[in-house]
Amino acid sequence: AKTQSTKRYAFFGVEHRERVQRHMVLDQDLRHAVSRDQLWVAYQPVVDLRTERTVGVEGLLRWTHPDHGTVSPGEFIPIAEESDLINSIGTHMLRMATRQLAAERERHELDLQLNANLSPRQLEDPHLGAMVQHALAEAGLPAHALCLEVTENAIMHDPMQAARVLRELRELGVYLAIDDFGTGYSSLAQLRRLPLDTLKIDRSFVTDLGDSHDLETIVTSIIAMAHAVGLDVVAEGVETAQQFDLLRRLGCDEVQGYYLSKPVPIDQLVTQLPRRDGL
Ligand code: C2E
Ligand code: CA
Ligand code: CA
Ligand code: CA
Repeated sequence: AKTQSTKRYAFFGVEHRERVQRHMVLDQDLRHAVSRDQLWVAYQPVVDLRTERTVGVEGLLRWTHPDHGTVSPGEFIPIAEESDLINSIGTHMLRMATRQLAAERERHELDLQLNANLSPRQLEDPHLGAMVQHALAEAGLPAHALCLEVTENAIMHDPMQAARVLRELRELGVYLAIDDFGTGYSSLAQLRRLPLDTLKIDRSFVTDLGDSHDLETIVTSIIAMAHAVGLDVVAEGVETAQQFDLLRRLGCDEVQGYYLSKPVPIDQLVTQLPRRDGL
């Protein structure tokens, strides 16, 4: 037993070392990812549950690393947030995404809205409003075609500061969404005072929906409360027809998820827009 546990520790030691090493390499290489043009945006359709039409897309960053292949944002965004890289990467992302969406909207005469994620650190950047305004102007994308998503935790970190920033963004004419709702500790009572338009229910709620009557009750009340304070509700992580139909019955407004489409490169977006039942 003793040799076994020693072995196990040795194994964890190696694993830990490899993880630290990968983190260091990614942290180093991320510094050049923008200038070497390794970052790109994948787009996932957002579908209106009533009309079953695609009303928008969420832009999600991808990093094609020369040695490690595609690195997920779940891994590199936290690394970017630890350094000052998140601001330049966030700016680069918004410039790419607004430009690509503006071109697609024009080419196909589509009224698609772009959703883009803001990191907590970006909310602290005093130049955020100017950056957003510049990206829109440069791309020729109207402000009302952009919705910026901020997580619950980013807001609760400093609610007063967040409120100021959100008001400034709102004055530009962009829409605002609260992302990953249900994973943090905010309440709708606190969010009510912020200039928000949309609430996105976290994927973890949607995944187990259908197996759990309690969860159905929770999601129903989140939707009711959100509607009561004037917010549209989007559910993310919809993977099955059952989840899709249930969310529609519960009064959810829009959905996003693999059931409809995975995030795809811009050149595949329009040809792959989800259609259901002949729509
Ligand atoms: P998020 O904003 O909550 O984005 C939704 C994530 O769920 C995406 O993961 C998406 O690919 C994934 N997803 C969508 N539908 C399904 C589904 O049906 N099933 C499952 N299992 N997953 C689904 P992704 O692209 O890996 O992004 C992870 C996170 O990285 C995002 O979570 C967001 O927090 C962050 N992120 C991505 N792009 C950006 C960005 O440009 N800026 C910032 N600050 N964060 C970003
Ligand atoms: Ca998001
Ligand atoms: Ca989310
Ligand atoms: Ca999430």
